Amino acid sequence: MTDVVVIGAGISGLATARELAARGCNVSVLERQVRVGGNAISERFDGYLMEHGPTTLNASVPNAMERIKSLGLINSAKPLGDGVQKRYLQNSGTLHGISTHRLGLLTSPYLSPRARIRFLTELLRRKGQGEDTESVHAFVSRRFGGEFADKVIEPMAAGIFMGDASELSISGAFPKLVEMEQRFGSITRAVLAAKRGGEPGRQLFSWPGGIATLPRTISVGLGPRVYTSVAVTRILRHRNRFEVQTANNGNHHADAVVLAVQPHVAASLLEELDPDGTSALADIAAPPVSVVFLGYRRDQVDHPLDGLGYLTTKGPDQVISGVQFNSTMFEGRAPDGHVSLSAYVGGARNPDLAKMEQKDLFSEVHKELGTMLGIKGKPVTSRLRMWARGLPQYTIGHQKRREIIEASSRRIAGLYLTGNYLGGVSVSNCLETAHSAADALHREIALNVPHQYKSATKV
Ligand SMILES: Cc1cc2nc3c(=O)[nH]c(=O)nc-3n(C[C@H](O)[C@H](O)[C@H](O)COP(=O)(O)OP(=O)(O)OC[C@H]3O[C@@H](n4cnc5c(N)ncnc54)[C@H](O)[C@@H]3O)c2cc1C
Repeated sequence: MTDVVVIGAGISGLATARELAARGCNVSVLERQVRVGGNAISERFDGYLMEHGPTTLNASVPNAMERIKSLGLINSAKPLGDGVQKRYLQNSGTLHGISTHRLGLLTSPYLSPRARIRFLTELLRRKGQGEDTESVHAFVSRRFGGEFADKVIEPMAAGIFMGDASELSISGAFPKLVEMEQRFGSITRAVLAAKRGGEPGRQLFSWPGGIATLPRTISVGLGPRVYTSVAVTRILRHRNRFEVQTANNGNHHADAVVLAVQPHVAASLLEELDPDGTSALADIAAPPVSVVFLGYRRDQVDHPLDGLGYLTTKGPDQVISGVQFNSTMFEGRAPDGHVSLSAYVGGARNPDLAKMEQKDLFSEVHKELGTMLGIKGKPVTSRLRMWARGLPQYTIGHQKRREIIEASSRRIAGLYLTGNYLGGVSVSNCLETAHSAADALHREIALNVPHQYKSATKV
């Protein structure tokens, strides 16, 4: 039986471990924190449920949905509540409600008539080169016009990556769009073709206990193979085996190791084994993000909160990048007669704002929300989660970095990396990437590839 150590029990690590255990490997998972889940933390208190990290999964990744199904988590999954009627975008201090209907943006006055015409003529634009050097903002401006890029894509980049659309790479962050342009010559044409082919639509969901239901369920299935409060400090390679040293749990020996930790941790653990991989990993920034959770009595808030929340365009005094109307999105997120909101601050746009003093952060966010949503009086509850490293940024050059990182397992047989900096940041992407990592590792075992260094430094 092949012994595998998976380092990190976030969603990526747990999902990989589960796949490997199902393929007959003897797996141990080592996690530094006292609990599993990584940034998927759902905390219940006083009738509220706060998501410290992810809040929704999307059903548009078929591979991920297969994993969710096999975990028996389909029936208990809850789609967004009926109260979600609109998506809001905030621009120059005003909230604009846009119907969630497919044509919502084009029928709303949010974009100028000129910008809407420019959007509709995307079909006529010439195909680009599909280069790794183009930013998300540049790509979208080229295809759909600058106003659409500024007023829709910029806020979306902040919402998905807590990133800056002018820094994110289109081929790294949204490779599908590049593929669509290259294959169909136009994104509109590609979308129309996909509709005809019945491609699954985007659909968000969670569970009554929050997103942490997912890692908890995987971890329960793995049982005593998951060790928490165990920090890995060093990985060594002796002939065909790995030695995984920990701060407080001795050394673990394995035929294969899966690194499922944040890129900066992977960089430091690989320093002695793979300098090329290390430097590519170290180049991935993950700026800080703060999640400010606030509860109010319903009668304190004038706004109907009839949407997912809102995303904001960049502005000199803009503190909040995005807000979620938690208690509209899902039932049971606030006590009766109350609502809960989460505001996201920081990321690549304003990393320093995420590090503000707690009391300043609460007061700035409450002030901004008060103006936007017509809130009277103080919140009845408030909590803060500061992620010193938030989401990995798929900036220009990311594809190259990814290739170098993924080649680590060719340079060091038996070593695999997985995580949210490879195949997309969403939980669904993490499940899919974990599946690929487990498949690749299992293939290596099945082919009985001799475990040997290919180009790494000796230890
Ligand atoms: C604020 C926020 C909101 C988000 N919202 C959404 C959303 O709504 N929908 C969505 O799909 N995605 C969302 N995401 C993204 C998604 O949550 C993450 O990409 C995903 O959870 C990452 O999982 P992971 O396992 O790759 O990494 P992590 O969750 O970072 O897990 C890595 C694990 O490795 C452990 N570790 C680190 N060092 C060591 C060591 N030395 N030894 C042992 N263990 C170690 C860590 O403790 C951690 O548990 C959000 C992320 C954030 C931060």
